[in-house]
Amino acid sequence: MSGYVLMPAAPVTLAVAGTQAMFPVNRVFCIGRNYAWSAGEPRPTEMPAWFMKPASAVVPAEGELPYPPQTTEFCHEIELVVAIGLGGRGIDAAQAQPHMWGYAAGLDLTRRDLQREAKRLGGPWEPAKAFDRSAPCTPLVPAASIGHPRRGAIWLAVNGTQRQRADISALLWPVPDLVAMLSRSVTLLPGDLIFTGTPAGVGPLQVGDRITGGVAGIGDFSMTVTSEPT
Ligand code: MN
Repeated sequence: MSGYVLMPAAPVTLAVAGTQAMFPVNRVFCIGRNYAWSAGEPRPTEMPAWFMKPASAVVPAEGELPYPPQTTEFCHEIELVVAIGLGGRGIDAAQAQPHMWGYAAGLDLTRRDLQREAKRLGGPWEPAKAFDRSAPCTPLVPAASIGHPRRGAIWLAVNGTQRQRADISALLWPVPDLVAMLSRSVTLLPGDLIFTGTPAGVGPLQVGDRITGGVAGIGDFSMTVTSEPT
């Protein structure tokens, strides 16, 4: 007997903006605090923490966003997303550009109450971060089309009221440093995504909320929070 005993999962893909092409998603790395959240905050000397979500958490940032189970504090975090096209390990930040295939705007959705509990108990963050549909993303824009953006507004509004607004030039650790950091720890692979951290203004969502957001020159989205599917 040979062959798969179960049907293998279909590859997770993201659309490539303006084309019929698809980007195959491999793994999802998320960066912790990477913007100053208050004025005069000293720049950290340590690189930020990182954690992961499963590729299956990545969904197109459109349509309905079901409120997840086991939380009463479902929170938005708008982030610049980098897609890795060329893998590697021990990548030098100054040599990182060829590894960055493209960019998107994404949401690192978080069950904040579970994250607070994980921090209190010193437990893993997966229950807070790695749930179904927790990483909506806009279509990817290739670096071959737009280059490697270092500035541009990043924003999110709920029901038309601005909650988060910053500029990606304010990333404490820019994208090449993040690629270098991760590649010192693991071998980066083609298809990996990196969520680069969220600016100030994270907050809770309610059923019925309309979330809009994006990164200027890269992509924007609109989604509606719906009841947990029964
Ligand atoms: Mn985040």
